[in-house]
Amino acid sequence: MMAIYHCPACGRSYRADRPIWRCECGSHLNLGAGVGLKRDAIAMGEASLWRYATALALAAPPRVSLGEGWTPLVRRDWQGVGVHFKLEFQMPTGSFKDRGTAVMINHLLEVGVGPIHEDSSGNAGASIATYAAAAGLPCRIYVPAAAPRGKLVQIAASGAEVRSIPGTRQDVTDAALAAVGETFYASHNWQPFFIEGTKTLAFELWEQFDFRAPGNILVPTGYGSNILGLDRGFDELEKNGEIAARPRLFAVQAANYAAFAAVWAAGEDRFVPFPAQPTLADGIATPKPVRVSEVLGAVRRSQGGVVTVAEEEIAPALVALGRLGLFVEPTAATAGAALTRLLRDGTIRADQPTVVVLTGFGLKAADRIGELLGIAGR
Ligand SMILES: [Zn+2]
Repeated sequence: MMAIYHCPACGRSYRADRPIWRCECGSHLNLGAGVGLKRDAIAMGEASLWRYATALALAAPPRVSLGEGWTPLVRRDWQGVGVHFKLEFQMPTGSFKDRGTAVMINHLLEVGVGPIHEDSSGNAGASIATYAAAAGLPCRIYVPAAAPRGKLVQIAASGAEVRSIPGTRQDVTDAALAAVGETFYASHNWQPFFIEGTKTLAFELWEQFDFRAPGNILVPTGYGSNILGLDRGFDELEKNGEIAARPRLFAVQAANYAAFAAVWAAGEDRFVPFPAQPTLADGIATPKPVRVSEVLGAVRRSQGGVVTVAEEEIAPALVALGRLGLFVEPTAATAGAALTRLLRDGTIRADQPTVVVLTGFGLKAADRIGELLGIAGR
């Protein structure tokens, strides 16, 4: 079955049979509903997200895989409460992005993509550069000049061309947009197949919870691809009668850089300008998310919420996670800080099965974490 893109702005549809990243009208596109997943369709012997291949909108088995997905779910004690941590940082490139990238790149290979480029604060750039290398695709990544060094080194090591752009995160995106005529813009924030990949996070959690949905899921949120993937995945499970109730989704943002929280607080459904300050959580410092109404719709449907955490809450959460054996970057630690808040105010109760999605590995930001621990320059 050929996948179809739909434009939420003008209603146009497109067959997903060639590389496109947005509608002629300028809007982003979304994929039509998937076939969904039934329990007996899981390839049980496949220890990667490709165990769910029958539920993905791809025409053929993957041409490129680095073993992404099927990450551990571990239970730890968080302030006296048993909580499940989903170790998405245990992916080939050290961040959750590989789920989306692997499915997106395989789709683009199926429809004959050539050289690609992308803009990223670091993790998505590292992921796409790595999978492009594995696929033999020439790749150029635009990054903020201030991106953590570990992420830049990772991109460069894949052989991708790194273009460091001074200024704001939006300046980096503008530079990538200006290159649209030269190479294909394989933007993880625009291309709907990235979300087709992140939906496998829902499938894994369902399977790891013995084929039930957890009660709450907390996700660090910049553009919202994990929120959208979880919504899509649990939707497909619900439609197939595999779950009776959906989990509450909590989109976690840094208060200093909280685009979704601004829209949520204003009771709006589309982007509103907001004041942005520097944040430790560089991976979710998003000036202008692409799918605002879709992400907030998913949060609302789930009866979850948008949670912001202050800068001074991030480092203690990172340290607390480290002492549980969970070494993550500051962006991922925001979800721990949010859990503390939601337990304290009673939004989440101790008896509810709760998942904290840990999105990025600590070595990604070793320099910054060293500063937080007071061991910089030693
Ligand atoms: Zn359109």
